[in-house]
Amino acid sequence: MLKHFTFDSVILGGGGAGLTTAIQLSQEGQDVAVISKVFPTRSHTVAAQGGIAAALANVSDDKWLWHMYDTVKGSDYLGDQDAIEYMCKNAAEAIYELEHMGMPFDRNDDGRIYQRPFGGMTKNFGESSISRTCAVADRTGHAMLHTLYQKNIELKTKFFVEWVGLDLIRDNDGAVLGIVALELKSGDLAIFHAKNTIFATGGAGRIFQASTNAYINTGDGLGMAARANIALEDMEFWQFHPTGILDVGVLITEAVRGEGGYLVNSNNERFMSKYAPNAKDLASRDVISRAIATEVKEGRGIGENKDGVYLTLSHLGESLINEKLPGIRETAIKFANVDPVNDPIPVVPTVHYMMGGIPTNLDGQVRDTANNSIIDGFYAVGECACVSVHGANRLGSNSLLDLVVFGRAAGLNIIKNSNNKKHKPLPKDAAEFTLSRLNKIEINTDGENPKEVGDELRKIMQDYCGVFRFPELLKKGLKEIQAVRIKTNNLQIKDKSKVFNTARTEALELTNLIEVAEATINAAFARKESRGAHSRFDYPKRDDHNWLKHSIYNPKEKNMSFRPVNLKPLTVESFPLMDRVY
Ligand SMILES: Cc1cc2nc3c(=O)[nH]c(=O)nc-3n(C[C@H](O)[C@H](O)[C@H](O)COP(=O)(O)OP(=O)(O)OC[C@H]3O[C@@H](n4cnc5c(N)ncnc54)[C@H](O)[C@@H]3O)c2cc1C
Repeated sequence: MLKHFTFDSVILGGGGAGLTTAIQLSQEGQDVAVISKVFPTRSHTVAAQGGIAAALANVSDDKWLWHMYDTVKGSDYLGDQDAIEYMCKNAAEAIYELEHMGMPFDRNDDGRIYQRPFGGMTKNFGESSISRTCAVADRTGHAMLHTLYQKNIELKTKFFVEWVGLDLIRDNDGAVLGIVALELKSGDLAIFHAKNTIFATGGAGRIFQASTNAYINTGDGLGMAARANIALEDMEFWQFHPTGILDVGVLITEAVRGEGGYLVNSNNERFMSKYAPNAKDLASRDVISRAIATEVKEGRGIGENKDGVYLTLSHLGESLINEKLPGIRETAIKFANVDPVNDPIPVVPTVHYMMGGIPTNLDGQVRDTANNSIIDGFYAVGECACVSVHGANRLGSNSLLDLVVFGRAAGLNIIKNSNNKKHKPLPKDAAEFTLSRLNKIEINTDGENPKEVGDELRKIMQDYCGVFRFPELLKKGLKEIQAVRIKTNNLQIKDKSKVFNTARTEALELTNLIEVAEATINAAFARKESRGAHSRFDYPKRDDHNWLKHSIYNPKEKNMSFRPVNLKPLTVESFPLMDRVY
């Protein structure tokens, strides 16, 4: 049965970004639906540990301009400077807004919000590290997500929980009119018709084998956009977090190093001073991940296979660990079988964050890259969007900030443009494409097993598109991903039941993973330089002359185009290109 719902705005995703936009819209009286495949407070934002950055100057002098400099440099100059200025300038206000909603930040003795050092965050344009990251112990995302959810309950936002968005609905002019979604409880499909559709579907770390991401992070929004012929930007840039637990992937937050923890190799040597003489263990994540990979490659790894390094924090003492890093102690005991109060934690670089995404402007409006215009009625916010503030490498604690600053900006833009905006008529065959996609999986009797194809996809990405990228391996990966693509067009599920059929959901998610994986490996193959998280063995240097540009993957033609980086901030002077050393 095809149900039909009509709202002013439909937000796909109930993580930090989606819930922030929902607050903006609901408090202006809009009729808003938030659709989420899991209960909103189980979105991946809940797992964020270390904190959220803003130049509040609660510990020492700080300026948003210093934060802007750090973010520009952290991005390896690929971030757009207008977007970075907007984010850093609006950061403090966003934090106070969260505080006033009731977010229980840790406090200094004087009552002001506690801030800790984080990688790449510095004082006075790189002089020394600075305490800029606001935190709630090592459970910042948990506190933030619950605060945002409760505010939405107060504002009477409507939630569609355990519904999976499947496809975008566009009309002949390309305007977005809503989505088609599947209710997990009943197996029924519904059309959500809206004046504005906002994607807040989060990351896609599940294209890799080893990931800190939740199992739900399958890049659904990107898959839906790509199927609707919307381009994806900067997809070669994937952040490897230096400290996922070895062989498990679970994250050990950068806050451990912020509080004074450090890395050692099998010779018990603090190796980061070789790679980043000033910032050492607080250099940015791409730099540290490459340092670990190099230590391992040169035979100084730890563990059974000598493929990790140790993160030491016992010197911090039990009381500090219990107060500031209680979740980490628990995680290390549970997943690594070590108590960090006594022993170091075995860690390895693990896929963590997607810098690229659906291209948007500063107001969250999705850009039509082919026509240099915006797509009517369509917004993207949070990790699924590429504004771009993170460029080639995101600084830790800048993502939670991105969610609230740009989640809010999208809401403000929708309200500003809401006068006289009406629902556009739905095409008669609005759900046809989705129905035929579902039907094919349903009736297929000699198709591929989604679990096996998914595992194959993840292995290819892990083996051929990791921390270091080699031309031959990329070429091989590209070919193998194309073979996986053919399999994803011919999926079959054995269990045909309607109610909470997780096999069907997994098959549908796989149709999104393949879009993200294909975009990633095409973009990684195209970019012939090393910048931020993208490290090409055959082109080891950054090449500003040829590659100071964003990559655009066009899903229909499966080819790449490019757009220049915006080096012009909104009001301040631009930060000139420099070598990036920490
Ligand atoms: C372990 C971990 C720790 C982190 N720590 C930090 C940190 O300390 N500081 C920091 O700044 N950043 C951190 N990050 C990054 C940051 O948490 C994420 O980038 C951010 O939370 C993403 O938020 P989001 O709102 O975009 O998406 P998410 O929080 O991932 O939410 C996505 C939402 O979309 C919904 N959804 C997706 N697809 C569909 C679909 N098809 N149908 C219906 N609903 C759908 C999901 O149900 C969910 O509600 C961390 C990330 C991880 C993985």
